Amino acid sequence: MIDISQFRIAPGTRVDLSRHEPNSRKGFEGGKKDGKKALPGLTKTIAGLQRRLWAESEQSLLVVLQAMDTGGKDGTIRHVFRGVNPQGVDVHGFGVPTEEELAHDYLWRVHQHTPADGRIAIFNRSHYEDVLVVRVKELVPKEVWSRRYEHIRAFEEMLSHEGTTIVKVFLNISKDEQKERFEARLGEPDKNWKFRKGDLEDRALWDAYRAAYEDAITKTSTDHAPWYVVPADRKWYRNLAVSSILIETLERMNPQFPDPEQDLTDVVIR
Ligand code: AMP
Ligand code: MG
Repeated sequence: MIDISQFRIAPGTRVDLSRHEPNSRKGFEGGKKDGKKALPGLTKTIAGLQRRLWAESEQSLLVVLQAMDTGGKDGTIRHVFRGVNPQGVDVHGFGVPTEEELAHDYLWRVHQHTPADGRIAIFNRSHYEDVLVVRVKELVPKEVWSRRYEHIRAFEEMLSHEGTTIVKVFLNISKDEQKERFEARLGEPDKNWKFRKGDLEDRALWDAYRAAYEDAITKTSTDHAPWYVVPADRKWYRNLAVSSILIETLERMNPQFPDPEQDLTDVVIR
């Protein structure tokens, strides 16, 4: 486990991403090899906690993953949720909205995928795109996106009151690391499919995206839906960090196996 308090953005504090080191491996003694060796123990713990959540079926967990392109959202999901029962977990990616989605309010498509009792939902991108790409690319006027932080806070508070625990993770990579990962996508044939020329337009807007992230995280990190800024240049550390966040969160939720409906003590199977 890594101490996750170092990643947590206390409500009301102004986030300055230049003060969050993407290459950090703070709180872990050892290097890549040790880090990789430590992961299976954590994913096993997550799997055990998820089993209890599923059996209890009285509360749910929503994990929001956000990052710049190549930030590692897919890899995090693949590694961290390795051990869980697929029956209890829903992963949903939010891409460019469809015509139907655009004809509704921006939370409409999101609300349909929030987790039911006993389940974990993982958002690969989320309603935060509506104050990130939408803001940076000026897809709606400022007066429209600037009102959304308040909607989002209220929406997440409502979910939390109704039984959903929320954790939000920003995978923080450096601009240099992004360059290397894009180069890998170009250079390795089995990664070509992940590369879109449009991604480079977003890279050119790096500073505007960082500013949009700083605002979004600052304005929406709350006690009921905290943001964690996770150093993500080292994939192995990122995996340990996100696993630690999930374990601490699930342990706090403390799901319990339900008691059997009847007294089973004298049941004999013949
Ligand atoms: P990917 O995660 O690589 O599949 O890419 C999804 C794309 O959808 C990204 O370029 C996002 O910026 C874009 N996207 C997600 N949500 C929205 C939104 N609400 N409005 C516009 N673009 C979005
Ligand atoms: Mg992409």
